[in-house]
Amino acid sequence: MLAFTASLFAQNHVEDDFENIVCKEAEAHAHFLHPVPAANPLTANYDLKYYRFEWYIDPAQYFIDGKATVYFETLEDGFAEINFDFSTQMAVNDISYHGQSLNSTASGAYLLTVQLPTPLTAGTLDSMTITYAGAPPSSGFGSFIQSEHNGIPSLWTLSEPYGAQDWWPCKNGLDDKIDSIDVIVTTPEAYRAASNGLLVQETVVGSDKVYHWKHRYPIAPYLVAIAVTNFAQYTDNVPLSNGTNLPMLNYVYPENLANAQSGTGKLVQVLQFYDSLFVSYPFHEEKYGHAEFGWGGGMEHQTMSYVTSYGWGLLAHELAHQWFGDMVTCGSWEDIWLNEGFATYLEGLSRERFPSQVVTQWYDWKLSKINSITSQTGGSVKVADTTSVNSIFSSRLSYNKGSYLLHMLRWKLGDEDFFMGLRNYLTDRQYDYALTNSLQLHLEAASGQDLTEYFEDWFTGQGHPSYQVTWEQSSAGDVYIQLNQTTSHVSVDFFEMPVPVLLKGAGVDSLVRLEHTQNGELFSMNMPFTVTSVQFDPDLWLISANNTVQQGELTGTGEAFAEGDIFIYPNPAKDFIQVFFEKNKPESELNWLMVNGLADSQGWLHGMGWHYN
Ligand SMILES: [Zn+2]
Repeated sequence: MLAFTASLFAQNHVEDDFENIVCKEAEAHAHFLHPVPAANPLTANYDLKYYRFEWYIDPAQYFIDGKATVYFETLEDGFAEINFDFSTQMAVNDISYHGQSLNSTASGAYLLTVQLPTPLTAGTLDSMTITYAGAPPSSGFGSFIQSEHNGIPSLWTLSEPYGAQDWWPCKNGLDDKIDSIDVIVTTPEAYRAASNGLLVQETVVGSDKVYHWKHRYPIAPYLVAIAVTNFAQYTDNVPLSNGTNLPMLNYVYPENLANAQSGTGKLVQVLQFYDSLFVSYPFHEEKYGHAEFGWGGGMEHQTMSYVTSYGWGLLAHELAHQWFGDMVTCGSWEDIWLNEGFATYLEGLSRERFPSQVVTQWYDWKLSKINSITSQTGGSVKVADTTSVNSIFSSRLSYNKGSYLLHMLRWKLGDEDFFMGLRNYLTDRQYDYALTNSLQLHLEAASGQDLTEYFEDWFTGQGHPSYQVTWEQSSAGDVYIQLNQTTSHVSVDFFEMPVPVLLKGAGVDSLVRLEHTQNGELFSMNMPFTVTSVQFDPDLWLISANNTVQQGELTGTGEAFAEGDIFIYPNPAKDFIQVFFEKNKPESELNWLMVNGLADSQGWLHGMGWHYN
């Protein structure tokens, strides 16, 4: 026999005050196992500690010239050579190691191997300086781009996902964050150079200027970036909840200054909102900021997002990445939704939080996401082909469906458990990498719910449900709702979800939450008003499409509902039946049915071992 649930609850208010969501057991997070994701195995035998980059960049030239000093710790004995992912199109001019020059070999498209004079033992902290120059290959979204704006030369980098190795010797995988970096860019005096962290020095040397950026937080290699052009600069101040002021430093094209100031000014409140929502701004000892570039979008370089325009959505999205993507970085490109789904969702939350500030309202934003997600019948949030940049950065799947996976989890778990689980996930994985499993475990720990099936259906599985709702109300006021579901893709038989349905009467309504666990499931509830219409998921909590609602007799059993003692559904039955008998009916009056089960308060029978007499 099957269990039934049909709980009533007050309609959720979308203006929930996030600042008041208190974590009831912040210390509850456990340290879970985090499998090491795939990376170049040749670079797995050492740990990156520090880089000092010294580059000469003239934005009028498609060229980089300079050196990278790398500090590393060996992880095994007999460490006789060190490997870097680095384009073999770049000329390595010298490798300096304790005062001597080392030999190296370049092989394949992206491998630099440096032979050490004496093998090192495990646990040795060592360093070398690699001097190189060249016109880097450009991959992905344009890992190294020389362009112009308003007739002025402009140069920027955008390494995500695989482009760091195009322009500096690195570990190109998602397995090792660099503990800290210094980025020192020399450029002709007319230009400014933007990068990660704090600008600690800006000095004139002859006809050049030297910009020294210092970043003292762990950073994934793909988030190291530079941008060089004739930036105008200004700073917005952001008072944080911890009482300090965070500078939001903006390097913008001079011709877009007014537009930029308007956009970043509005972002101050969003940064304060995010800062209060989970954990405080991850790089609060340094800065947040923007640098303008010419690529058609944005990129969340750590502490300084590169943007092409200053609209609410783009700025709110890139800012959200400082928590989801930068502080906690997806540990595999299969799990890119941990970056993009979150950033997309937080942009949505900023619309929910600041309705008077945004053109596209929260409801319309949700509707547009659902329309995008359900515009095709298949496709998984888990990236099917991580060798394809288009597959990794699928806006429909990694961004939109990823964001809606979070929204549905919020609905399923409730705000308190949902936000607590996210806070614990961020705290546990801070300044490191994470996989989807880690998020799942933290949400399970916070809520006590098993989310295995949820992630199988929604993360690994493909497609979405369509719901068919049939309802009727008896003369006694009982409302019966039968809920059917079809799925758009064979990979998922059934999406087990709590389903919101709004029952409307004259001047009154009630939102019911139906725990949908079986196709054709029948729910009953008593309503103290006459229901005139039923609306499916009015607040857009679920991914679904082509839903129908109809009023009608439920499979010819209306008489049994209206008058009777016993109702059996479905009839005929195949896999299961559900039995309903009138509340408070003495068992003696049910003399044709032998029952060894328990009826709940609504009259639904649970348990095993019944049979017809
Ligand atoms: Zn993004």
